[in-house]
Amino acid sequence: MQDSDFLPFTRPTIDEDTIAGVADVLRSGWITTGPWCAKFEQALSEYFGGRTVLAYVSGTVTMEIALRLLGIGPGDEVITTPLSWVATSNVVLAVGATPVFVDIDPVTRNIDCARIEAAITPRTRAILPVHLAGLPADLDALYAIAARHGLRVIEDAAQAIGSHWNGRRVGSFGDLASFSFHPNKNVTSIEGGCLVLPDGADVELARRLRLQGVQRFGTDGMDVDVVGGKANLTDVAARVGWGQLQRIEEFNARRRELARLYFTAFDAIGLTARGVQLPPRDFEQSNWHMFQIVLPEAVQRAAVMDALKARGIGTGVHYPAIHLFSLYRARGLRPGDFPHAERAGASILTLPLFPAMRDTDVARVSDALDGVLRQFGV
Ligand SMILES: *Cc1c(COP(=O)(O)O)cnc(C)c1O
Repeated sequence: MQDSDFLPFTRPTIDEDTIAGVADVLRSGWITTGPWCAKFEQALSEYFGGRTVLAYVSGTVTMEIALRLLGIGPGDEVITTPLSWVATSNVVLAVGATPVFVDIDPVTRNIDCARIEAAITPRTRAILPVHLAGLPADLDALYAIAARHGLRVIEDAAQAIGSHWNGRRVGSFGDLASFSFHPNKNVTSIEGGCLVLPDGADVELARRLRLQGVQRFGTDGMDVDVVGGKANLTDVAARVGWGQLQRIEEFNARRRELARLYFTAFDAIGLTARGVQLPPRDFEQSNWHMFQIVLPEAVQRAAVMDALKARGIGTGVHYPAIHLFSLYRARGLRPGDFPHAERAGASILTLPLFPAMRDTDVARVSDALDGVLRQFGV
């Protein structure tokens, strides 16, 4: 199999206009945070219904700043899901607080809202749900629980740009929402992220935390009253992100179309009857950031991945259950704590899905998966 025939599980679509635009920024004499960053933030604000949006250098740092903005730190607990990129709970540890995991709903693979209230203690300050693969967590249930218990919500919407809940765009309502523009995401700025802030948020603090905590006044006045980091987005990155945002509807529509093709192909080869779990058939709410299946328990995921790779198909693992990592086991978490997340974490497989994929690529994946699963007796 030639490299050019290899189908990766994802690949960004960067158009010539963006490439030329980046060259213009590079020639302009101002390449770090400046006019393009402001323009990107303005475009994002319009996208999220006029709410305040600040851009940062990654989705991870965006979430960490969201936590700090709410004053969450040592002694505080934050409820989250064990089935996510480890960034989600690492940021809670980074501010000195404690992540409290709640198992997932095995169908949606998102935090099981019916189990959240049992995990609330007097120390709980916030809920940090993840919209895995772009399928929103149950935001009605979540915000109702938050209101009942006086908790803040930071949506880890890293994967959910363009997703909807009851017809409303994720990030355009609710409390805080954090997005990522990593190259795998539906919109990329190479690396980057943004925070959508609710009315009444301390926007100036969210801004200051981005750059050493520096506050400027007058012509030459400067003060620092809080430890800020270095989290500003460059104009080069912002130009890429702005160019991507112009095409989000087209990108997400193509992802949805490819997801439909996958379901048709997988129904034809009877994957569900063979014990493979497909994602929910949601064409209204999800932005189809990923198409993930869960393999039968008896099948070794690594062997399936190797066999698919040999047939020219790239796949990914998103994600192993977080509580089973050493860092978390050292905090007292162990196998058996969150069985649904562990089952998914051990067998979930991300299949190729990106806007530039061709319809014939879906058939290639389906044929390869069919053959490989037969090879393993499925
Ligand atoms: C990508 C991602 C992040 C982190 O975003 P970065 O931009 O890579 O820092 C956090 N949470 C989830 C669920 C993600 O998918």
